Amino acid sequence: IHERQRPVVLEAINAVADRIESEQDHLTELDSAIGDADHGANLTRGFSSVREELEEIEDEPIDAIVKEVGTTLISNVGGASGPLYGGTLLTASQELTDGFTAESSVAFAEAYLAKVKDRGDATVGDKTMVDTLTPAVHTYKKSIEEDELPPLTALAKAVDAAERGVEYTVPLKAMKGRASFLGWRSVGHQDPGATSTLYILEELLAVAET
Ligand code: ADP
Ligand code: MG
Ligand code: MG
Repeated sequence: IHERQRPVVLEAINAVADRIESEQDHLTELDSAIGDADHGANLTRGFSSVREELEEIEDEPIDAIVKEVGTTLISNVGGASGPLYGGTLLTASQELTDGFTAESSVAFAEAYLAKVKDRGDATVGDKTMVDTLTPAVHTYKKSIEEDELPPLTALAKAVDAAERGVEYTVPLKAMKGRASFLGWRSVGHQDPGATSTLYILEELLAVAET
């Protein structure tokens, strides 16, 4: 399974890196409204390091590749989002010792969400990436476990839910991170981390669909 899925996983990582790069200015713009205007640069730096690292890890099992992506993000993204993006991948990668199956992908998604919430101490409504991840992960899990949909359909539904999650951040008052320093002045702005999380999910779907 690792042999078969490896090219898809590597393609997904590259697709995410491309998307982050092309959205860098937009993410910076969002973060300049309610933060310190570095979210685009933080993630672009992180993913370009990941790209450089890929050659060295491209023969590893899936879980090791994902873990290495996490480690690289931790040391290169910085800011609040570094540990939130990197540390969580590192932990959630433990669910992928048998690669991606319907079951392991749910476990991975749940472990990822749990770790983000634990690390950032944020919950739904705090105007963070948790507002994107929570509906996405719950929709994915329900689609697979209750509605017995195939993973690809479940992922498409999760992306729809994530999109609504991003829109949901606009009217919220930020409760975590730098944006919370603005208090009510954060209202009316879309959260950068919620947005980058959506872009990543969209790329995972796009690669899974091919
Ligand atoms: P920094 O705020 O340190 O400059 P970034 O700009 O890279 O870091 O990332 C900001 C994003 O990180 C926010 O838009 C938000 O989605 C996310 N974030 C910040 N703090 C938290 C937290 N405690 N829990 C979850 N997400 C958070
Ligand atoms: Mg910032
Ligand atoms: Mg910063």
